[in-house]
Amino acid sequence: MLVDYHLHLERGPLTRAWLEEFLEQGRRRGVAEFGFSEHAYRFRQAGHLLNTPWGRQRCVADLEEYLGLLSAAREAGLPVRVGVEMDYLPEREEAIRAFLKSYRWDFVLGSVHWLGDWGVDLADMREEHRRRGVDRAWREYFGMLGRAAGSRLFDVLAHPDLIKIFGDTPAADPAPLWDEAVAQIAAAGCAVEVSSAGLRRPVGEIYPAVGFLERCRRSLIPVTTASDAHTPEEVGQDLDRVVLLLRQVGYREVLRFRERVGVPTPL
Ligand SMILES: [Zn+2]
Ligand SMILES: [Zn+2]
Repeated sequence: MLVDYHLHLERGPLTRAWLEEFLEQGRRRGVAEFGFSEHAYRFRQAGHLLNTPWGRQRCVADLEEYLGLLSAAREAGLPVRVGVEMDYLPEREEAIRAFLKSYRWDFVLGSVHWLGDWGVDLADMREEHRRRGVDRAWREYFGMLGRAAGSRLFDVLAHPDLIKIFGDTPAADPAPLWDEAVAQIAAAGCAVEVSSAGLRRPVGEIYPAVGFLERCRRSLIPVTTASDAHTPEEVGQDLDRVVLLLRQVGYREVLRFRERVGVPTPL
């Protein structure tokens, strides 16, 4: 069964018609279940979490409206799951926990986008990779990923090696960083997302790298599949390549979620 557990509606209105465009396009690519995961920072109800100038500018949507749209679609029998993509902010763990507890989700994605005030995937902050040094940036990133898992706030870690987005590679072998992060993820019982979005970025690779995914497999960490679509055209894009990679590494199942319980499903 093909599932896409990372979808953003943010470029259109929160209407059934816009949502159905995502389903329609996804079905053409064989997607049978759709996990919507809008960025938490977009919602006024989460405005106190990523409370930075960057976040405040984007905090414009109403979470109740989003949840209402998705729950109604789910109750109407559409194969829709209600999720959110939550930034991991180590100094805000308790506030994030309280926010997540206040709403009913099918799944919560945890994302490391921020190392302090550096947005690692933002094109206008791209220079920071070189300024900080790629090796140091990777060390900090995977350290933060392990910490995100350890917080036990999340069901799935999204795009687990996002730090490679612009194609910079460290001089040092990343294997020890992967080993440490994967050990923390396994200990926390978190799943990992395998995402085709990296294929659309300068790096041109699936997130995560094969070496990272092999370590996940050896540690029996469950996975989801995702496109991180921001438009209907991107739904399910390159998921065939994601599934191929998963099979090569030895995976035979993906997780689907309902009310934050993961259900293994044959790939
Ligand atoms: Zn993300
Ligand atoms: Zn996303």
